[in-house]
Amino acid sequence: MKRIILMMLAGIVLTSCQQAVTPKSETKTVVPSQEYIVNATLFSQQAAEYRALCYQAYNLAASKMMKALETNPSKPAVLLDLDETVLDNSPYFGWQVKNDKPFTPATWNQWVAKGEAHAIPGVSDFLHLADSLGVTLFYVSNRDTSGLMPTMKNMQELGMPQAEKDHYYLKSTTSDKTERRQDILEMGYTILFYVGDNMGDYQSMWDAPAPNDKRKAMVDEHRAEMGNQFIVLPNALYGTWLAAVYKFDRNQSDSAFYQERLDAITAVEL
Ligand SMILES: [Mg+2]
Repeated sequence: MKRIILMMLAGIVLTSCQQAVTPKSETKTVVPSQEYIVNATLFSQQAAEYRALCYQAYNLAASKMMKALETNPSKPAVLLDLDETVLDNSPYFGWQVKNDKPFTPATWNQWVAKGEAHAIPGVSDFLHLADSLGVTLFYVSNRDTSGLMPTMKNMQELGMPQAEKDHYYLKSTTSDKTERRQDILEMGYTILFYVGDNMGDYQSMWDAPAPNDKRKAMVDEHRAEMGNQFIVLPNALYGTWLAAVYKFDRNQSDSAFYQERLDAITAVEL
């Protein structure tokens, strides 16, 4: 009996040793291609701090609006981006993670067509306050114009005010919002401020494909406008900042994208 037990133990030890010496290439872990958005998706969906940041942005927007209205501006308006500013699309990114599928316009349009985006924390109260004070809301978004009907329906179901056709300026040809902002100004509106999660929601100079060091230096230069002319919402999921990490080249392999992300990280040597 003792001998049998000893032989079994020897067998286990031998198996363990064999596993330990298995060449690296055979045990290589395959990282799912969408693993990199897990934390950002969790931050949007799970962090009380994410909600707090959104409330902070919209509380600031409300107080700036009240202050601006004291001067009785003519036709006061607020321009808001939609995605990750008014509408929470994190379930779409959850779908990417759980199915290991990359972003594609086709699946994004499927998500938009469902009209099931949630409201960003704090936005509904802000929109209702603006509406009650006679402020016109313009939703200037790079959602494609083909998504207008489901987007309007989505926002109407969320009880958001001024969710009618005339208030939407979606993307028809270019992502640059300059012309759409100009059209609103030409109607005689006084734009109190802009709300967005991407610097291009504020001014088009941010849409130029510049490296992140340059983009950050530009923000430093315009720091006084942040929280004044531009109210910023947090978005760790995507944005021009991530496109800049990839050097604005969308046609790369997953491993090349991974390398670009690593290369962009500053790390201490220990
Ligand atoms: Mg956005």
